[in-house]
Amino acid sequence: MRRIVVLGAGYAGVRAVQEMGPVLDEREIVLIDRGRSHAIVTEMYRVAAGGRPARGAEVPLHRLVPHHRNLVLLQAEVKELDWRQRVVRTGQGAVAYDTVLFCLGATPEYFDIPGARESTLTLQHLDSALRLRRRLESLARLGGGRVVIVGGGLTGVELAGAISAIHPGRFRLTLAQASPSILPDEDPRLAAYAEEVLQRGDIEVRRGEHVARVTKRTVVLRSGAVLPADLVVWAGGVRGNPLAAQAGLPVDGRGRVQVLPTLEVDGHPGLFAAGDAAHVPGAAGHALPPTAQLAVQEGRAAARNIAGLLAGREPQAFRPQVLGMTAALGRGYGIARLGRLRLTGRPANALHELALVRYLYGVGGLGLLTRGGYLSWRSVPETTAERKAYDV
Ligand SMILES: Cc1cc2nc3c(=O)[nH]c(=O)nc-3n(C[C@H](O)[C@H](O)[C@H](O)COP(=O)(O)OP(=O)(O)OC[C@H]3O[C@@H](n4cnc5c(N)ncnc54)[C@H](O)[C@@H]3O)c2cc1C
Repeated sequence: MRRIVVLGAGYAGVRAVQEMGPVLDEREIVLIDRGRSHAIVTEMYRVAAGGRPARGAEVPLHRLVPHHRNLVLLQAEVKELDWRQRVVRTGQGAVAYDTVLFCLGATPEYFDIPGARESTLTLQHLDSALRLRRRLESLARLGGGRVVIVGGGLTGVELAGAISAIHPGRFRLTLAQASPSILPDEDPRLAAYAEEVLQRGDIEVRRGEHVARVTKRTVVLRSGAVLPADLVVWAGGVRGNPLAAQAGLPVDGRGRVQVLPTLEVDGHPGLFAAGDAAHVPGAAGHALPPTAQLAVQEGRAAARNIAGLLAGREPQAFRPQVLGMTAALGRGYGIARLGRLRLTGRPANALHELALVRYLYGVGGLGLLTRGGYLSWRSVPETTAERKAYDV
């Protein structure tokens, strides 16, 4: 039987497999991920700050994919995509394919800043969020400390707000942002509001200053200013999964696979890419931003094209639908952009919570929402056994 392999069970990969359900009678689908669960990455800032138990930020994969004899979940580290041989090499052996969808997500972008990789923690996935949580907890036990978060995009802003709200007065928090404004891609009014809320939470916002180098105890800015730190968190941006470049696929300057509007990789029949790992051209020719919202849409669009090609139909160009943006700032405040609507404060935060409900419903249906406990878990502390199970 012919085989479709989906690499990565993130936002793009899981939705792609769900969308491909109808082809399962004629094709085997193998979904490969290093984990057994789908990580709700957008909740990682809360996990890291200690505001959400780890079990509330991942969903076992078997609860999300169709139960069918031709659907295989393979927990394995992907080591190499050999597109010439049409084989994926993994820690569990080689898997041959006829069609492959590359959606292995992103890794941190350090911009070659000396010390950034070696001296900072990140917030990319559950293991990194838990590492960060442990470090914050041990600093808190010692009475607190100075935490510098590099990167004033959504991840840095949400993390700073959550730490300040969950550990009030415990840490001296600094958010360092290279561009003149935090949230530089956002409506300036929302960015200004976010900065005001962070400052009310005693977070120092240093913007317009590039980081020159990082050590375990300092962040040195290009101006020469030195920010002392007990912990440095890197939220300075992402680049595509390095396996794409290693495979010799066409990649952009950020290591993302260049795809056609149909999400196919030009000159590589049977190879598609989606999500943060892909450079998907937007309206103005720029790459679409790396968001969960778009990863879901791209995963589904790639799956429809894969199924369509098998049925002899022409692949369709992907048309993104950007609904808006929401972000939590801690203490019940938030910002939100929905079409032309701009919201701040508690209504925006409520919308942010609603976005999570919407995602969980979309990916797992009512069953996940009602029986999964994902909405109530924030108020249920972790047991000792769970903490041990999630030890990283
Ligand atoms: C803290 C944080 C907050 C965010 N908040 C928002 C938000 O509010 N709204 C929004 O739209 N976006 C948000 N994003 C961005 C969003 O999470 C990403 O755009 C989204 O996760 C991309 O989905 P993906 O499927 O491409 O990759 P991912 O979801 O990262 O999935 C990639 C998968 O590939 C697997 N994988 C990677 N390498 C290997 C390998 N070698 N072998 C096996 N498996 C592998 C991983 O285990 C993972 O399951 C946030 C990101 C972060 C870090």
